[in-house]
Amino acid sequence: MEAVSHALGAWGNPSSVHSYGRAARRIVEDSRRHVGGLAGVDPAAVVFTSGGTEANNLALRGCGRARILVSAIEHLSVLEAANNIELIPVDENGVVDLKALQATLGDGGDTVVSVMLANNETGVIQPVSRAAALAHEAGALFHCDAVQGAGRLKLDFSTLGADLMTLSAHKIGGPKGAGALIAADHVQLGAINRGGGQERGRRSGTENVPGIAGFGAAAEQASAEVASAGNLAALRDRLEERVLAEIPGARIVGAGAARLPNTSCIALPGISAETQIMALDLAGFAVSAGSACSSGKVKPSHVLAAMGFDNDIAACAIRVSLGAGNSEADIEGFVAAYRDFAKRAGATAA
Ligand code: PLP
Repeated sequence: MEAVSHALGAWGNPSSVHSYGRAARRIVEDSRRHVGGLAGVDPAAVVFTSGGTEANNLALRGCGRARILVSAIEHLSVLEAANNIELIPVDENGVVDLKALQATLGDGGDTVVSVMLANNETGVIQPVSRAAALAHEAGALFHCDAVQGAGRLKLDFSTLGADLMTLSAHKIGGPKGAGALIAADHVQLGAINRGGGQERGRRSGTENVPGIAGFGAAAEQASAEVASAGNLAALRDRLEERVLAEIPGARIVGAGAARLPNTSCIALPGISAETQIMALDLAGFAVSAGSACSSGKVKPSHVLAAMGFDNDIAACAIRVSLGAGNSEADIEGFVAAYRDFAKRAGATAA
């Protein structure tokens, strides 16, 4: 908030050469260093965008490859970035099937492959560097949507083996409406937003200086705190243990795979995610469904459907995300509220 409000006062346009413009430019370039630091890249590789959605679109539509192969559990901003997207299946734990990727790739000279670092609904971590290696062996480019992994896993663009990588400010505590595409030097990125040539011609439009400032501050903090993010896993494990012990029928989705430390996807078969979310909200707990579309309506999760779950589970799963401010007492409070709700809902159903 401090970084954003300070930047609101820097009213110059970063493209202007007068001193006010230069002050705004300094804010943008400082943030670029911090975001580059978080991703382990030179700041020049950072292209600021209006968020993860735009960065995913820019990556897949701007990279100049005609064929687009993506895992079936990607965020909708990847799945809907083009009309000709081909899907790579995932296994029952929601991990992308690398054999299927290899078999589908063929001659990858005109292909871009996109596999996310961690799934936003289940938290399941994907074998990104192995997928990148397969893509490169076939001559394809590799894009990684790292929106959910940033700040929770150590990010290193070159270790991941990506050519393009997406980040979003609001997933690491920054403001909504700011994000970045990390683009390796060798990628000839064609702009989608054309005009004044900002961001070295890769994304025209006057920069969102306050949003970028907040993104930079959040990235700096996330880089410092990523080592302790793993501590949340103990709290998450406790939450899952207690839910399974207290709520008959509840199940943890993706439990058989490596997952982000803060995410739990819990299915309560037969009770829609929407009903669960509303009841928990009334009890003071803010949780989400797999995918909330802009109307606020909850649809069955395409991620859970891709994992082979039928609607009874895919429409009945909630996502619980923990943060640094959560405690054991929160977990107990949540389990009690969830258990009471599940009892009431079960009684109504019976
Ligand atoms: N990719 C993933 C995995 C996400 O979870 C999200 C947002 O939830 C996005 C992309 C889109 O990012 P933004 O909200 O910044 O457009």
